[in-house]
Amino acid sequence: MKSRKIYLYNDNCSLNLSKLKAFIENTFKRPVIIKRIKNAVVTKGLLLDFIKTKKNIPEAKNSYPIIITKRLFATFDTFDKRIHLRSSLCSYPSIISLSGIVEAPAKPREYYLAKQSLSSTGLWEFEEPKIKEKLRGRFIDYDDKRILEILKGLVSQAIFFYLTGEPFCKVKKCRLYNAHWQEDLIYSQIKSGKFCAKHSKIL
Ligand SMILES: [Zn+2]
Repeated sequence: MKSRKIYLYNDNCSLNLSKLKAFIENTFKRPVIIKRIKNAVVTKGLLLDFIKTKKNIPEAKNSYPIIITKRLFATFDTFDKRIHLRSSLCSYPSIISLSGIVEAPAKPREYYLAKQSLSSTGLWEFEEPKIKEKLRGRFIDYDDKRILEILKGLVSQAIFFYLTGEPFCKVKKCRLYNAHWQEDLIYSQIKSGKFCAKHSKIL
């Protein structure tokens, strides 16, 4: 198991993953190989087709494969019987979506309240940029420079899943915190940007 390498698959992303590679190698002391790949993540509508996606990752058996994709995807939750947008999925392969980082965790409540009150008036498309400007810093938007920091945490969660079976941590200041709100995500990955005492010790 110890000899397994981490493969980072860059699926249609313009992002340079070399800093992410350096972070993983420093943190987990394991070699990381970056591979470019096209259209690896397959969806039906928004719903992830995991079987087809897995088939696109040939080395999945002998490595820890992590796909970083632009594609937005959702999974079906058998518990609440609903489809949920995802920023990441820990599995073989693990999948992290850049669009999912923007779309899946909830934005501040003010954003949805404004959207709700303005949608019926037809003014939302004019007002949305103003609301976004007002809430700037409290959520991640497309092409946000902070996405790299967020990726460090989501990739760490995938690697902890491979190494220990448990990707998440309950401590909010830990990079393994499973954030459902953008503000929590920013807190865990940027304001804190560290691992808790327990996970630092494991590392
Ligand atoms: Zn932790």
